[in-house]
Amino acid sequence: MPADPEEVHDCILEGIGLKDLLAPAHVVIEGGKVVGLACTRMKLGAPDASGRPRPVPVEGPLEILPADTILPAIGQETVLDFLGDLHLNHHRDGTLIVDPATCETSLPGLFAGGDVARGPASVIKAIADGRKAAEAIGLKHGVALAAEPELAKDTPVDLLLAKKARHKSPQTVPVLPVQERGGFKEVIQSLDPEAAREEARRCLDCDELCSLCVTVCPNRANRAYAVRPFALELPALVMREGRLVTEGARPFVVNQDVQILNVGDFCNACGNCNTFCPTSGAPYKDKPRFWIDAEGYAEAQGDVFRMHHTGDALVLDARLGGVAHRLESHAGLSTYCSGDLVVRFDTGTWRLLDAEFLGAWMEGRVFDLSPVATLIALLGSNSVVPHVAFS
Ligand code: SF4
Ligand code: SF4
Repeated sequence: MPADPEEVHDCILEGIGLKDLLAPAHVVIEGGKVVGLACTRMKLGAPDASGRPRPVPVEGPLEILPADTILPAIGQETVLDFLGDLHLNHHRDGTLIVDPATCETSLPGLFAGGDVARGPASVIKAIADGRKAAEAIGLKHGVALAAEPELAKDTPVDLLLAKKARHKSPQTVPVLPVQERGGFKEVIQSLDPEAAREEARRCLDCDELCSLCVTVCPNRANRAYAVRPFALELPALVMREGRLVTEGARPFVVNQDVQILNVGDFCNACGNCNTFCPTSGAPYKDKPRFWIDAEGYAEAQGDVFRMHHTGDALVLDARLGGVAHRLESHAGLSTYCSGDLVVRFDTGTWRLLDAEFLGAWMEGRVFDLSPVATLIALLGSNSVVPHVAFS
């Protein structure tokens, strides 16, 4: 059973004996009463796939640990008996099945998140579930969550320098003196208000600028880049009586001015950024995946992008859901092509100038221009955030 160093430290501090390399074999019972725990002696064998030496049994007599009470205390599970006769859909391990978008259980109106729905995980993930559920509950009642308050924003560079320059050690959390432990008093106590404020001041503003996936990638495959936040409305195009006409308008908004992309040529899918992402993302899969090499782009699976120059034009190629898209910008004009559809925009305002369809006419066919918004966001933001250049 692996244990954190602080758990080992606290056991020793509280006088709890630790015995290494023993595996419980069976409980020893005499006269109907527990008298001990028989354990197999183990030794460390060859490392397993994770590199950790695998304990293997040693031939010989069992070691008996005398005991009159045995408390198995490994693992945790959620006690749901308060649900009574309600039968909710759950996984084999007992965790509840919830809608990943809303955290709603199989019983409409009942929401669950955190360990009870996802198994043991971090507090942050539980908080995120809580927020998601609150939002869904609000929407059911026609109430949207209040917008985040606008904070005075530093530039990405200021934030980055502050992050790099600042080193504040964590506050020490008070604990109950050893001699007072043994009852039901909480051992790990709370910070006082001033210490809690100090601790909060250590915040690294990851919601403004995280880029952890950039710093943990051993292959420098994740890159941060600056975008100018923008809002844009693009219509759908519909074939009507021999003409392409615009219908409706879908809004597209980019709020954060620092974004991440992945360079497919460098990424070996080691999953390191997945492990470290504080928001449970898998940046190497979720973020726009760019290829420098044309052959790599042609062979890559999933949604992929490639930016290059053709003459004086800046070209962004993309394959999204298996469909090819191209946005080409030159001298104030941007041309989008996908299959037989060609749409021209004014670069900068992204006003749709004209559209034509070069293939067989199909009355009523609708073209969704949302991939264009993705291409515009990526094409217009080719400046790399300086910390990539610093390092
Ligand atoms: S999965 Fe790719 S992007 Fe993520 S850390 Fe590994 S090499 Fe870097
Ligand atoms: S993908 Fe994850 S690690 Fe990368 S910037 Fe976003 S939150 Fe941070």
